[in-house]
Amino acid sequence: MSTQPAFIAGPPSEVLVIGAGAAGLPTALAAAPRAVRVLSLAEPARDGASTWAQGGIAAALGAQDSPALHAADTLAAGQHLNQPDAVARLTAAAAGVIDWLQTLGAHFDRRDDVLLLGREAAHGQARIVHAHGDATGAEVMRALGAASCAARHIELLAARRAIALAQDASARVVGAWAWNGHALELWPARAVVLASGGYAALYRSTTNPAASDGSGMALALAAGARLTDLEFVQFHPTALAPADAARNGQLPLLTEALRGAGATLIDQHGQRFMLAEHALAELAPRDVVARAIAARRLAGSAVFWMRARRSAPSFRSVFRPYSLPACRPVLTHARSPCR
Ligand SMILES: Cc1cc2nc3c(=O)[nH]c(=O)nc-3n(C[C@H](O)[C@H](O)[C@H](O)COP(=O)(O)OP(=O)(O)OC[C@H]3O[C@@H](n4cnc5c(N)ncnc54)[C@H](O)[C@@H]3O)c2cc1C
Repeated sequence: MSTQPAFIAGPPSEVLVIGAGAAGLPTALAAAPRAVRVLSLAEPARDGASTWAQGGIAAALGAQDSPALHAADTLAAGQHLNQPDAVARLTAAAAGVIDWLQTLGAHFDRRDDVLLLGREAAHGQARIVHAHGDATGAEVMRALGAASCAARHIELLAARRAIALAQDASARVVGAWAWNGHALELWPARAVVLASGGYAALYRSTTNPAASDGSGMALALAAGARLTDLEFVQFHPTALAPADAARNGQLPLLTEALRGAGATLIDQHGQRFMLAEHALAELAPRDVVARAIAARRLAGSAVFWMRARRSAPSFRSVFRPYSLPACRPVLTHARSPCR
């Protein structure tokens, strides 16, 4: 019997999207009526960072807010290293994206039929649209997945790992090679979009799913693409460190919306150390908060707690269903980080 894996060549598509997250599925939907094939490691919403997103999506929807204010906050948080035209485009488009997601069937949290807006770090206004408290990504991916499954121009092929981009004699990308667990597949396409997520799961401790292994970037690099800005990695300041975290390095993220709803950070002496670090204290830009925590850990202070009143309505609205179950094992063994 041959030990060679089978080789399958699929029919060409106009567009091949690698990745079925919050980047890949909207790309596939927007490409209509072109025929789009989407390859992913798992069914949409079954892997990838998008389903894990908690706090919500920033959009200037409040009465006192505007895309210009949102852009100014974004540039300040990015210490003006951002690309201003990208910031302007994204902040201007955000409200329309929320509308579009709702037309696809995404349900965001409302009170009296008005969207609830949360406050997060570095935002001067409450502008975070969220779903089911801290399950925004799951709700967005539910809606995107359903719309993509129903779209006649989209073919979703899960349980595939893209392992190389196919190139013609002039090095132009003309498709991708994928491994389906049994056979090697070649998926030719006129255009290939890499939407395979980030690489943060490569860190020893991470709040990212295993799929965020940077494999799409590696494929691009191998095909001759130039990668830029790889140093811009967001280190989320707060995560839960259960006793068994060392085993796989995966830490449940404690959403920033908790701090937006009033949770404070204290050290082992009970001191609110962020007060001395930044005028916005716990709501300083994430890199500032993460650096303040890292500096104290390097100095030997190992324990940080978030202190919040669980009874506060705004706190309860952002603290379920992901964060609270993640806390429970710790709550039973240690002093509550969620008081
Ligand atoms: C815990 C957590 C909380 C977050 N909270 C928020 C938040 O509140 N607000 C916010 O704006 N952002 C948040 N983020 C960030 C946000 O989730 C990501 O920026 C976003 O989801 C990235 O989307 P994506 O489609 O690029 O990648 P992903 O959602 O990671 O999707 C990647 C896709 O590529 C596929 N893939 C990967 N490699 C291959 C391969 N070799 N071959 C085939 N397919 C492949 C995967 O199967 C998956 O379908 C959070 C992230 C995490 C981890």
